[in-house]
Amino acid sequence: MARKARRKAALRSAGKVREGDLLERARALAEDPSLATPICEGPCVLFSPVKAAQRAIPRIHAARDDEAKLLAFAKRGNDLARAYAATLLVAKGEKIPYVAELRVPTGSAPYVVRGKAKPFFLAGLQNHHDRALRLLALMPWVKKRGLHVFSADRGLVCTGRRAAPPQDFVEEEMDELGLAERGQGAWSCGHDEADALVLRWRDAGVEAARCEACAGDESTLERLLRHMAGPKLLAGFEVSARLRPLEGAPVEAAADVPEESSKAYLTGAMHDAALLEAARAARVAALKALPRRLYVAGPRSFGEDADALLAALSPTPAEARALRAALAAHEGPVVLDKPTVARALAELWPQHGLAMLEAAAQSAEVARDLHKANAGPDEAAELVRRAGREGASRAGLASLPSYQNLPPAAAAADALARAFRAEGHEAAVRAALERASAGRQKGVCLAFLQALGGLKGHEWRFSQTERDVAASVAPAVEGLLRGEPGSYHDALREASLRAGETAEFQPAERSP
Ligand SMILES: [Zn+2]
Ligand SMILES: [Zn+2]
Repeated sequence: MARKARRKAALRSAGKVREGDLLERARALAEDPSLATPICEGPCVLFSPVKAAQRAIPRIHAARDDEAKLLAFAKRGNDLARAYAATLLVAKGEKIPYVAELRVPTGSAPYVVRGKAKPFFLAGLQNHHDRALRLLALMPWVKKRGLHVFSADRGLVCTGRRAAPPQDFVEEEMDELGLAERGQGAWSCGHDEADALVLRWRDAGVEAARCEACAGDESTLERLLRHMAGPKLLAGFEVSARLRPLEGAPVEAAADVPEESSKAYLTGAMHDAALLEAARAARVAALKALPRRLYVAGPRSFGEDADALLAALSPTPAEARALRAALAAHEGPVVLDKPTVARALAELWPQHGLAMLEAAAQSAEVARDLHKANAGPDEAAELVRRAGREGASRAGLASLPSYQNLPPAAAAADALARAFRAEGHEAAVRAALERASAGRQKGVCLAFLQALGGLKGHEWRFSQTERDVAASVAPAVEGLLRGEPGSYHDALREASLRAGETAEFQPAERSP
């Protein structure tokens, strides 16, 4: 195993780019003290640290060319003011020796240490260009004094104890989320036909609806929270889902977001898409719990109309027989998240698997042979398909006449025709090649291979005599492969005669 990498020091040499950026931002602060000054719009009392910073910053700015004064300012007094003085000292220098880094959930904030100013204040000030990171400058006071701060375009806005955000901040945030106001306090992305997350922001008097496509893999709440700070911010939010109602027959089913999902969302453990998924799952569970017959497939409800459900699923005849049998026996709701035959078969399988196979095969024997109690979603569909095929071939064979003693050419033709009817094209080609290589009735085999298109690469196996036999037998082959059961005997007689056989044969008597 590789040795553990040594932890990187928090202090490191400044990269040229970052150094330049930090210097530039420090100089901007020296030029314009308003970049460092929080705006107060709330019931802030006189001894609030924000007010103290507002008073101190202009005095420090006035002393910006006096290094001794700045050094003194950086040593005592209001924490934000001290960080401002320290940053002005940085701005006076030509280069930056070391850059520290404050890691926060929204990113990493590089900053320059100077004097005894504290990291959060320095990091927030020196990243004043970044709406998320500049919040750091007031974070210690948010925690200690219970202030609310909003990072608006015009700067950090403090509302003191009041949790209600400034209107311009709300509008900027909604705009950034791609939402427009479409009613009093009702903001949305406008994709009303899609499932949407609805975030109620009580302190702002806002209800924001954002659809899944617009949210992508984001959490809309997290996006908002990046730009604001305050005690108990989450208490001001409520999350719910607005699911597009089911089409078709009306159904009453609650789609309330489960409480644990809403909690997970509010604490950042879940993003929008996952919450909507939970809401949809809750609706499916609510529908499945209804004490009556009801068919729902994907976005559509079919009430109790099994024909309409089947029409929407477009099953093959065997699948339709299987589904009809299961639906007739099923008393409760059938709710499919997607409108596909495979989902329907899988959903009904645990209770009605055997009945579905029997209906698909139209044979209890085939059903018993194929049935499994536990079949995966795709397996159920595959079993029903097989039941349909095997049932049909057994039924097809059962209606053919049967024989006891056939002359050799007739026996070969009969075996190949049955292989085709019971097991299909490939099986019949395989059987014909096997017989041919064993030298049994090669001419008859050749006639079947030609009819089935399975001769390619095997032509050399056949002599001229065998080719002559095949040419003679050929006209009878189609009837043997695909003709009605009633004319099978005549087709077999014809094939036998054409192969040069003169012996008579008759179907065996059927046992009643
Ligand atoms: Zn204030
Ligand atoms: Zn949208």
